[in-house]
Amino acid sequence: IQICVEKKPPKQQDTDKVIGVDFGRTDIAHTSEGDNWNGQQLNRVRDHYSKLRAALQRKASKGTRSSRRRCRELLQRLSGKERRFQAWVNHRISKAIVSRAKTTNSAIALEDLTGIRERVNQQPRSKTERRRANSWAFYQLRQFLEYKARVAGVSLILVPPAYTSQTCHRCLHIHPDPAQSYRSGKKFKCGHCGWEGDADLNGANVIALLGAAVNQPRGSWLACQLQGYRKPALYCEAVRVG
Ligand SMILES: [Zn+2]
Repeated sequence: IQICVEKKPPKQQDTDKVIGVDFGRTDIAHTSEGDNWNGQQLNRVRDHYSKLRAALQRKASKGTRSSRRRCRELLQRLSGKERRFQAWVNHRISKAIVSRAKTTNSAIALEDLTGIRERVNQQPRSKTERRRANSWAFYQLRQFLEYKARVAGVSLILVPPAYTSQTCHRCLHIHPDPAQSYRSGKKFKCGHCGWEGDADLNGANVIALLGAAVNQPRGSWLACQLQGYRKPALYCEAVRVG
């Protein structure tokens, strides 16, 4: 039996505090408050399934009729198992972020993920890494965040992902040479103000800043402090959801 329950979401809280969330490659998610969810365990499980799947697929194309059928059945069961595991992880992460936002009376800012495929694939990467990024997993996590935030009355802001990972959250400076970046892998080192730290934490903070600029339209707008350097990279076209 399917039962439909209709529920009116509570009014979204008005607030000028914003938690930024960055979805990354090594960390699944990193917030501007420093919480992060490491992807190592998840990646291990998914790599394991992917190997198993490849082996089974090879087997399913040869062998006797009955063994081919058995392989196909096993493949189907595997895909369900992997999906459930991923969903469990995404539920846990989104629940933690939303409840944190609720208790601190903050809004949540995310990157607009419609372009994540392109962004994550900007640099040449191994086949393994590409498989990890081009998945429905990030999409699902975002959906979970969206509906949990709505139910909890937490507002959600989407910001454009351009330059969020390359901008220093403290001085808003981007490397003057477009071919270079202050970010290298997991590390971020600003050449202007000297801030040094975790690259995903920096990204999450830039997202939070952009989100805050949207939430208070007449507040201060973001501009690079460096004189004579006016790249309109952080011009904010973010939208408020719901
Ligand atoms: Zn800086």
